[in-house]
Amino acid sequence: MDLLACTDCGTELSVPVQRVALPPETHVTRFHEPLPPLMEPGTYAVDPDPWRRPWRDWERLSAAEAAAAGVYAPVYPVPLGPRNHLVLAPGDTRATRLVPERCESHCLGIAAGAEPNLECAGCGLGVGFREDDCGLWQTVWYAPDAVVRRPLKVPAPAPPPPDRPAYDGFDGLDRWHDLRLGAAAGAALARLLAASGGAPLALPAGPVTELFGPEPARLLPPGRPVRRVALAGPNLPDTGADIVLVPAASWRDDGPADEPGSGSGSGSGSGSGSGSAGRVAPVAVPLAPRLWARLALPVETSPMPVSGRPPAGVLRDDYPLPDHRRRLSGPDGHILRRTLARMPEVRQPWLRALYDRL
Ligand SMILES: [Zn+2]
Repeated sequence: MDLLACTDCGTELSVPVQRVALPPETHVTRFHEPLPPLMEPGTYAVDPDPWRRPWRDWERLSAAEAAAAGVYAPVYPVPLGPRNHLVLAPGDTRATRLVPERCESHCLGIAAGAEPNLECAGCGLGVGFREDDCGLWQTVWYAPDAVVRRPLKVPAPAPPPPDRPAYDGFDGLDRWHDLRLGAAAGAALARLLAASGGAPLALPAGPVTELFGPEPARLLPPGRPVRRVALAGPNLPDTGADIVLVPAASWRDDGPADEPGSGSGSGSGSGSGSGSAGRVAPVAVPLAPRLWARLALPVETSPMPVSGRPPAGVLRDDYPLPDHRRRLSGPDGHILRRTLARMPEVRQPWLRALYDRL
């Protein structure tokens, strides 16, 4: 757990917060819809990508400059701001003052502008940005040079196991569940396409095929050899697949990656292939834990307990229901393109051609 404090005067600018992986849906926007806070209470994440300002047109950047900005395929515009902004839920911040005249507001709320619209209540230092406009997650972004992280000498809470999906596919009462899963699916599809090496993929029947839909077959050339894809992870059998979809590890203090395995074959510890000498280890494609759970774990189907008798004339509605789930809405196209553009692998001609077709 950490406390975030002002670099200038030391004022505590947050409650105790635990670092977690940057949610895959961070850079999703929705037109004219108010969105909830991006981050769970008590957590923060670090965005390794450059901040939105300043920016430059892709055509005016050399390949080296673009790579330094973490972009390897055309993106419009290319952000060039400081990396490693810290994002947390607005309710977890403390001792900040909003500066309305530094907000950019285009519709129903406020958005980040050129200058920090949040300042430290202790010393007036501009510490970051508050955003709460339609189409944007509610967030506070602290600038990396404006806050220091003070580690608290308390153990981090154990990460929760992947959620067992509810019967209808909703995650509790989070009506933005589909948006979050779609973004996770878009990031996963980018990594899956890169892992294919340009060969057609054989997806396992069921939720994985349903999730990715026709996109892999549409984007990858037909023919052979076909690379087999399977889910892998805790309590799943070894299938001998070429590419395995595994739950991404949560961010840990001893591990550097926010977004583990940018497709570069971080294929260890998937539980596959450990005992078979001579077999090529499968390529691991990390999935956001909640997406992996949605695909790999059985749904909850136990009926609600019923007591008493219904009034006369009321039909009971607790007949056994078929064991099926609500359909997933599919990969988010913006996150698919965004993730691919930031993978060094996209410089391979076949993958760049695929990216250009998106
Ligand atoms: Zn201060």
